[in-house]
Amino acid sequence: MASSDNTVLDQAPCQTLRGVGPRLASLLAKRGIYTLQDILFHLPSRYLDRTHLTPLRDVRAGDYVAIEGTISGHRVSRGAKGSLTCELQDNSGTIHLRFFHFNSEQIRQLCVGTALRCFGEVRYGYQGLEIIHPEYLHLIPGKPLEIDDHLTPIYPSTEGVSQFQWRRLTDQVLAFLTAGAVLSDHLLHVQDKFSLPSLSMALHYVHRPPLDADRQQLLAGVHPMQQRLALEELLAHHLGLTRLRATLQAMTAPVLKGSTALQSQFLAQLPFKLTQAQQKVFTEITADIQRSEPMLRLLQGDVGAGKTVVAGLTLLQAVASGYQSAMMAPTEILAEQHYYNLTKWFEPLGLNIVWLSGKVKGKARTQTLAAIQDGSAHIAVGTHALFQEAVKFKNLALLVIDEQHRFGVDQRLALREKGLQQDYNPHQLIMTATPIPRTLAMSVYAHLDHSIIDELPPGRKPIQTIVLANDKRDKIVARVNEQCLAGRQAYWICPLIEDSEKLQCEAANTTYQQLSAHLPHLKLGLVHGALNVNDKTTIMQAFKNGDIDLLVATTVVEVGVDVPNASLMIIENAERMGLSQLHQLRGRVGRGEAESFCVLMYQSPLSDIAYERLQVMRTTENGFVIAEKDLALRGSGELLGTRQTGTGRLRIASYTRDSILLPIVKEMAQVLLQTQPLVCDALINRWLAEGLEYGQV
Ligand code: ADP
Ligand code: MG
Repeated sequence: MASSDNTVLDQAPCQTLRGVGPRLASLLAKRGIYTLQDILFHLPSRYLDRTHLTPLRDVRAGDYVAIEGTISGHRVSRGAKGSLTCELQDNSGTIHLRFFHFNSEQIRQLCVGTALRCFGEVRYGYQGLEIIHPEYLHLIPGKPLEIDDHLTPIYPSTEGVSQFQWRRLTDQVLAFLTAGAVLSDHLLHVQDKFSLPSLSMALHYVHRPPLDADRQQLLAGVHPMQQRLALEELLAHHLGLTRLRATLQAMTAPVLKGSTALQSQFLAQLPFKLTQAQQKVFTEITADIQRSEPMLRLLQGDVGAGKTVVAGLTLLQAVASGYQSAMMAPTEILAEQHYYNLTKWFEPLGLNIVWLSGKVKGKARTQTLAAIQDGSAHIAVGTHALFQEAVKFKNLALLVIDEQHRFGVDQRLALREKGLQQDYNPHQLIMTATPIPRTLAMSVYAHLDHSIIDELPPGRKPIQTIVLANDKRDKIVARVNEQCLAGRQAYWICPLIEDSEKLQCEAANTTYQQLSAHLPHLKLGLVHGALNVNDKTTIMQAFKNGDIDLLVATTVVEVGVDVPNASLMIIENAERMGLSQLHQLRGRVGRGEAESFCVLMYQSPLSDIAYERLQVMRTTENGFVIAEKDLALRGSGELLGTRQTGTGRLRIASYTRDSILLPIVKEMAQVLLQTQPLVCDALINRWLAEGLEYGQV
């Protein structure tokens, strides 16, 4: 082992540590962790509070709990999916413990009458609340177990690396640090100005909070030691995005002058007039694409705001300028819908629109690829298949990407490389229906320009949202029957089962069977993620044509599906879903003439936060309001978690909670970029595991 006092943490490889061999090193490398510094900046994502026991009556799904009880039931099921299930009881209630990996010793030990203390995350299972693979300790009568008096750090999970291993790894690196290993503190010069603790002190504290730590602060993520690291992280991201934007702006893009004649011809055949908001954003886009610098614009617009027609106009401008353009959507259903619209709009104008997805094979594929390569295809529409290596454009000048947050980093990278096959870079328009609060947008998407369609097309009817407990199911089913017999169509959205697409599909299947039995006079359809694309598309098309009355679905229908005659949506276990997701789902109705309803079903009892969240859905249809509230509720609600979605991949900072730091970050970034390019490199390298890939568009 290297001697610790002169180890340079950002140089020393992980294998310097005891217990790290080639196997573990390669697992870590998969996560972008190569050096001791990388280990040190793999920060706890949360802390578990094992300092008190929760009575079983008060246990809720999603909570991490420490519980005690006696085993009152014990069952072993064999077969491929063998499991050991124990029922644990205290004097207030029961819960199930479920093991998928277990040995005969455990079967013997975990017998009825055994008293246990367990730790773990509670979830809903088929038999009610359960903990899968809890950690457990045996309780011995007359020998009380001590309860922890400090917080347990939990590290972001890495496949194959256990929490125990993470604690061992960080222990060793922290010891190196104590012994004087080298780790540059890039904020030393501002330490006094902002009364910051040193980097080393902050890291020690955050990895191993001492017994007297202010627990509330720490759990809420606002402890000064955490804020020291959060500031540095936000700074690194800001530097990264600024660099990225500068790199992209230094590239050249074709000037797209377009043709007003073609544009007028297109607009004249539309059955509606553009809203003012649509016109405004199109003007912004037009100004961008007429410059020789690549456009990098994020187009936000609530569900149903009419982003597609704006995209269409933009694609048309590229084609009218003699170039190709492309539109990509994350799912087959969505991409196909775009293809359908663009074909309907542009074929009458003499344009050639081609379709490419993974399922286009053989001769059709060869022809499509040829048309893209020789330029006879004016517009290519499809899924990420558009960006496979075999696809070569003759002169791609514009990319429209719908719902880009659904694309992985790899795909975004591939996409950028498409542009680089040519000696210029295409313009990029990124569309999202996920409303992003302003403060967030300015930071997370600091490298993009922003346009917002802040007005819905006229004539939209409000959607009535109703919140009901699951036990009112019969009533709801009767209502669905009534509406569908009257000629309307409905969606039935099945519960979200996190982490298991397979279980989710099985659950949807069961719901479909049950509803079919209860609704013999209706035609039902079922779509879920496990169906192959052909079947999915066929069913969606049948629903669109009105051949299916009730569509039972998992959340796959979330984005973009447009069936105006559907006026009723039922969402089961709505309390488990994010508000933005509910908003997207609900946006599938309220698109036609009839009055629309959305029924949010929940499993009682509801926690206060869950209740408040559903109330937000009931009282507003404004996506931005919903997004703001969602963030606010999540921020204050999830005391134990700093889990967040949709805000980039921050390790410790939170754009909302730490928004007070953003002006400081901006100021520091400006100074650093001008005076200390090497420090900028070091910070980006330290915090952005995949370097500049982050935020790449
Ligand atoms: P989103 O922004 O969610 O992608 P779409 O582009 O799918 O929304 O538009 C939703 C619906 O509104 C479509 O049926 C579209 O034809 C219609 N639409 C778009 N713009 C207008 C407008 N200015 N007036 C009336 N209807 C419009
Ligand atoms: Mg859309």
